Amino acid sequence: PSVPELEALQHADVAHLLPVPAAESDKYRRGVVGVVAGSARYPGAAVLAVAGALRGGAGAVRYVGPGSDAVIARFPEALVHGWPPSKAGRVQAWVVGPGLGDSPGVDEVLDSDVPVLVDADGLRGLDPAVVRARSAPTLLTPHAGEAAALLGVAREEVEGTRLASVRALAAKYGATVLLKGSTTLVADPDPRRAVRVNPTGTSWLATAGSGDVLSGLTGSLLAAGLAPLDAGSVGAYLHGLAARLVSRDAPVSAHDVATALPQAWRDTT
Ligand code: AMP
Ligand code: MG
Repeated sequence: PSVPELEALQHADVAHLLPVPAAESDKYRRGVVGVVAGSARYPGAAVLAVAGALRGGAGAVRYVGPGSDAVIARFPEALVHGWPPSKAGRVQAWVVGPGLGDSPGVDEVLDSDVPVLVDADGLRGLDPAVVRARSAPTLLTPHAGEAAALLGVAREEVEGTRLASVRALAAKYGATVLLKGSTTLVADPDPRRAVRVNPTGTSWLATAGSGDVLSGLTGSLLAAGLAPLDAGSVGAYLHGLAARLVSRDAPVSAHDVATALPQAWRDTT
């Protein structure tokens, strides 16, 4: 009962959590993040998720999906691999779902023994039993519409009861849940942990593709070793701060937000 129901990470808390490589570190020790995203219909989601992942602290980003050519054209530093994800080599965390369409990649990745962030199309029809049976943590990042579908309720109900909804989803899936929107909330599956509310959001983030950047960024933080509750809340913090820094009250694109992430990180340390 002494635990607060809600808490907001302060600047100093985030600074303390940011994964800084040790002097003797190398790219593998920093963590490798795998991204399974994009489709013929949504090729840009792959590029935006990789853009976020490259700026989240992991030492390398592996991309698996139909968007390899677009990813490499934009980011020669990404490692691209053929299907399936299980053949891509070792990763410390997976991001699956942005713009993915109906892909068997979700089941494949959930079958792994590393942390997995599931977003967007990866959330469609997600089976709680599959998530609960995993040996490693899972982080779900729905917006209100996706959360409503997972809970079997109307979107308005999630919007009207955001705190109860994020708690209900975390309990249903036994997973950490980051509920996106005007107030981003992150709930741990342990109900004794306070729900984190993100203090840096801005409605300029309501733009296509910004969620894809967040999922890549947050997956990279998971690969770098942050616990899911920390990765989700630090990811949302940096994402919101980057949007504010680059926007300064003008419209921004998701790509602009990804490009401003290093500045947000720097301003946080
Ligand atoms: P998605 O819905 O997947 O495209 O993700 C949208 C991103 O923008 C998430 O990070 C949301 O939290 C953020 N966002 C959307 N609408 C708002 C809003 N009105 N205020 C603040 N952030 C928002
Ligand atoms: Mg989205």
